[in-house]
Amino acid sequence: MHITIGIVGTGYVGLVTGACFAEFGVSVTCTDRDKKKIQSLRSGFIPFYEPRLEELVKKNLKEGRLKFTTNLSDVVRSSLVIFLTVGTSPRGDGSADLRSIEDVAREIARHMNGYKVIAIKSTVPVGVGERLRKVISESLKGHTDFDIVSNPEFLREGSAIEDFMRPNRVVIGTDSEKAKEIMKALYKPLYLIETPFVVTDIKTAELIKYASNCFLSTKISFINEMANLCEKLGADVHVVAKGMGLDGRIGPKFLHPGPGFGGSCFPKDLWALLHLAGNNGTELKIVKAVIEVNEAQRYHMINKIKTAMGTLKGKTVAVLGLSFKPNTDDIREAPAFYIIEGILKEGAYVRAYDPAAMKNFKTVLPDISYFKNPYSAVREADALIIVTEWNEFRNLDLERIKGLLKKPYFFFDLRNIYEPAKMRALSFKYFCVGRPCEDRINE
Ligand code: NAD
Repeated sequence: MHITIGIVGTGYVGLVTGACFAEFGVSVTCTDRDKKKIQSLRSGFIPFYEPRLEELVKKNLKEGRLKFTTNLSDVVRSSLVIFLTVGTSPRGDGSADLRSIEDVAREIARHMNGYKVIAIKSTVPVGVGERLRKVISESLKGHTDFDIVSNPEFLREGSAIEDFMRPNRVVIGTDSEKAKEIMKALYKPLYLIETPFVVTDIKTAELIKYASNCFLSTKISFINEMANLCEKLGADVHVVAKGMGLDGRIGPKFLHPGPGFGGSCFPKDLWALLHLAGNNGTELKIVKAVIEVNEAQRYHMINKIKTAMGTLKGKTVAVLGLSFKPNTDDIREAPAFYIIEGILKEGAYVRAYDPAAMKNFKTVLPDISYFKNPYSAVREADALIIVTEWNEFRNLDLERIKGLLKKPYFFFDLRNIYEPAKMRALSFKYFCVGRPCEDRINE
């Protein structure tokens, strides 16, 4: 079966989905309301940083399987499956903003020229699939058949291509046999590599996405609380995490302590699920606690720095890593933002460096100083703080750093990249998260 697909919303998820399906041999047309974005994508320019994506887009553009247009009508008419990948950012009350996805559904309905599968890849609260079915039915001109599929996306920014091409699972939620067969045919290359498929109803598929993100965030907040306890007890959270993770029922992933999670998904999905549950008369106590612990963790980091240095007033601090995680330029809900904001409030100056995210960060914090490498950021600073664990921070020339930092060489490693004993031997005042280091020694 030759399937043509359309992608509406060419952001991280939309572009990765489009490029990867094109790589699977499918004809893909992507559209977005941002005309400038579509214009630059046509010439192979990727508006954000994601490893391997540019080469994949350029290759498939050249081979004619991937197209970009600003004309939604063309996308609808030429596609059998239309993926909705627009953003679902939170509104003031934490609930998901569904205006874009509903607008898109209405617009699609107006151009439908035959049977279509409307596949929702955006993360949407339970019930939105049904709501879009109604929105489309009401906006259709005449009678046109269509099916709704919930096909949530689980890719991680920074390894999005690998995650899309080799996912842990594909979730398909639908009540239509026909749509199910079309979706399975589309994902055939993943069937061939024995990817597990979870085929279920629309509501269950929608909830799987939220439940997964909330559970992963729970693991992070849990280990952060254990790290804080380790700091009090003099225990080592890395060994605790290892000891826990070796239990097959727990697993080793997402047990890395740090400054708390951020990004475009976890925080907003936690709030959206909380909101959805509240509207349905259910209190999600764990989800609530996960949010609280995460927010407190940022302040714990700021306090750790302030307590160690005595005061931050008038101090100059070098911050390495601004993106919410390595290998992306995405700064949405980045811990670095909250930590820098806290440090600035205490009266410090910030010199920042990030391999990819400085352009984005300048749009939210234009008044701090930015540098083109870690060493120029550290020059004459009173302290260095690693907030995001980019690979290039794992092997810093520590002697050079010491030569650039002011005494007594405050080094805050919020990602536990370095070994405390080695850092002490190099005479750094080294602080990390949940492992015995200076905080403990000074007590
Ligand atoms: P994004 O902001 O990068 O991209 C969304 C795109 O949709 C933008 O380019 C925007 O211009 C476009 N858009 C918005 N309204 C539109 C409209 N009316 N018509 C056409 N285009 C429109 O967002 P994203 O990170 O790709 O996330 C998209 C969805 O996927 C969200 O629901 C998100 O929760 C979910 N998701 C994201 C990730 C991730 O890692 N980023 C992973 C899994 C799921």
